[in-house]
Amino acid sequence: MVKLAKYLKPFLTGIFLAILLLFVQAISDLNLPNYMSDIVNVGIQQNGVEHAAPDAMSQEGMKLISTFTTDHEKQTIEASYSLVSPSDKKAYSEKYPKADQPFYVKRVLSKAETEKVDTAFGTASSTFINVLRELSPPSDKKGAESSTSSISMKEIYGMQPLLDSLPEETIKSAHDKALENDVMQKQSGIMLTKGFYDELGVDLGAKQTSYIMKIGFYMLAIALVGGIATVLVGLLSSKIATGVARNLRKQVFTKVESFSKKELDTFSTASLITRCTNDIQQVQQLIMMGVRMICYAPILGIGGIIMAVNKSASMSWIIALAVAILLGLILIVMAIAMPKFKLIQKLIDKLNLISRENLSGLMVVRSFGTQEHEKERFDLANSDLTRTNLFVNRVMVFMMPMMMLIMNGVTLLIVWVGAHKIADSSMQVGDMMAYMQYVMQILFSFIMLPVMFIMIPRAAVSAGRIAEVLETKVSITDPGKPKSFSEKNKGQLEFKNVSFRYEGANEDALHEVSFQANPGQTTAIIGPTGSGKTTIASLALRFYDVNEGAIFIDGVDIRDVKQAELRAKIGYAPQKGVLLSGTIESNLKYGKKDAADEEMKEITEVAQALEFILEKPEKFASSISQGGTNVSGGQKQRLTIARALMKKPDILIFDDSFSALDFKTDSILRKALKEHTSNATVIIVAQRVSTIMNAEQILVLDKGRIVGRGTHRELLETCPEYFEIASSQLSKEELA
Ligand code: ADP
Ligand code: MG
Repeated sequence: MVKLAKYLKPFLTGIFLAILLLFVQAISDLNLPNYMSDIVNVGIQQNGVEHAAPDAMSQEGMKLISTFTTDHEKQTIEASYSLVSPSDKKAYSEKYPKADQPFYVKRVLSKAETEKVDTAFGTASSTFINVLRELSPPSDKKGAESSTSSISMKEIYGMQPLLDSLPEETIKSAHDKALENDVMQKQSGIMLTKGFYDELGVDLGAKQTSYIMKIGFYMLAIALVGGIATVLVGLLSSKIATGVARNLRKQVFTKVESFSKKELDTFSTASLITRCTNDIQQVQQLIMMGVRMICYAPILGIGGIIMAVNKSASMSWIIALAVAILLGLILIVMAIAMPKFKLIQKLIDKLNLISRENLSGLMVVRSFGTQEHEKERFDLANSDLTRTNLFVNRVMVFMMPMMMLIMNGVTLLIVWVGAHKIADSSMQVGDMMAYMQYVMQILFSFIMLPVMFIMIPRAAVSAGRIAEVLETKVSITDPGKPKSFSEKNKGQLEFKNVSFRYEGANEDALHEVSFQANPGQTTAIIGPTGSGKTTIASLALRFYDVNEGAIFIDGVDIRDVKQAELRAKIGYAPQKGVLLSGTIESNLKYGKKDAADEEMKEITEVAQALEFILEKPEKFASSISQGGTNVSGGQKQRLTIARALMKKPDILIFDDSFSALDFKTDSILRKALKEHTSNATVIIVAQRVSTIMNAEQILVLDKGRIVGRGTHRELLETCPEYFEIASSQLSKEELA
């Protein structure tokens, strides 16, 4: 997988941008619960009153509060307020309609100052409530807190003389108690503040609505930003993933194009196709998920932990517990399912192999009547795969309810612990709700782990298979300083002591083969199947490099010229004729795009193909299906011959190209060919003696060695192998 990392390089800015956007998404996801908690705590429970210290209060109020402060707190509070004189009252008449006396308003303060005065005011309020509790009879203690909100401020102010006469000790101990609980401080402050507001005629209902609307609007905006970020991340990740996949496909394709036959022999065609499609798809998916989930999970998880701990550090053990249980579950499930996942990949390979074999060899299977056997083979592989898949899915299915159980258990635990904390006023309802959401976010980020565990190894295998193709050293490459063919002796081909062995074979396919084929002459190669005829053709085209000896064209070693130049010089009709999908015309013009129609007609006539082409309703525009399956074997051979001729090459190699022709067509074609190619070097590989009888030079090949050479006449006398072949094919008269 590391080997493919360099293909991410062109997309680094995209990835960076995506991660940046992920942070935006995470920040919005992590802030929403916070705002929700504000709506519950401040908006609903505190009637939209945010601060413990009021924006305004009556003079009696100030006096009341001052009773319960330390000197320092008193200074802080007094410094933060200024008295509104009767003349200025008008400006405030809308905000505080009931104010008939001069009253205090809060000055414009900095954030730190606001916090300070809130604390001071809250502490004083809490002290007051504590004192009130002390004063009320024991049976009534519980109700003291709730009753303060219902008694009017007037009543409280009436208690001022009583409060003033309280011993210092009482206030001091109430103050100490107030310092212990800061949630209590805030709550008491807000309770009194609400009383002061009521007294001044502030519309608390409107205040509440406007606060909830404000926060609601923030939440909407944040959700919108988060949503946009999510969409953009999705867009970017798809772009990156498909871009990488496109580049990889291009690279693999280009690489395979450069493969010599040796490399093609090692990778099967089907495997190369799978690597170019399915394997790259796996990598593409991993990149997409990688950006969207794998990068996001840790951001959300860590962010969630920070936020949750901020909300309530004392409940962190719940997070630790939940994560530990969840990780344990994931580990167990993975330990069971992981080996099976690897197995699945292997089983899919096997199933592919069997189906590929059966599809390509369907006719053979049918002709031998072995459908039942093949069906059993397929069934076995199929049911193996099904069973393993089912097993893995059962394990995965089991995981879902377990995770739900853990999540619901955790929720229950948070409510249980949180409710106790709320009961003793050390936590607010909104905070508990937010905490619940943070813990869910943390758990979700851990749930993404198994997804990664499944995808990464799978993609790693695929990446390895792709890298294998990309890193294959092509055995046949162009020379550093390529030579060019000389113009003089056009088309002379010479094998000098050539020995060659196929990769992995334990015998030489060719053994010290030497011969020379000259322009204007036909050199025929004859020999039993497996004697090495096709191998000679492949070596001349440099599909493989020789192991020993050398091949020269026009006196230049073919390893010293560019492959393109070499192959441009040779027209080749392979033994297994291959036509490409398209039309007859597109196939013929494959070697020479700009060929004139006249030329095409002339050459197809030489190749004895014109007649059947013209018989077709669409003539040269007749379509050729993939692999050329809609023309007969003989027609295909003639089209392949014509295609080779179109190039007008110096050297022509026909590898058994006449085998599917009837004797008459064979002889007419050879005659036409002889006239048409009078200057070229022609090499004809054949099985039929009649096909090559008139060749200037005949090479008899047996088990990779040349066992005879000469003309037909000479060979009949000197070469027993040739005589044997000839006598089996020709009549007594012809032999004589
Ligand atoms: P011919 O064309 O005369 O029938 P070939 O040149 O195709 O014979 O094959 C010569 C020998 O090389 C045979 O024994 C064959 O089994 C072997 N051979 C051919 N192609 C390959 C290959 N790609 N890998 C390994 N051995 C091969
Ligand atoms: Mg052959």
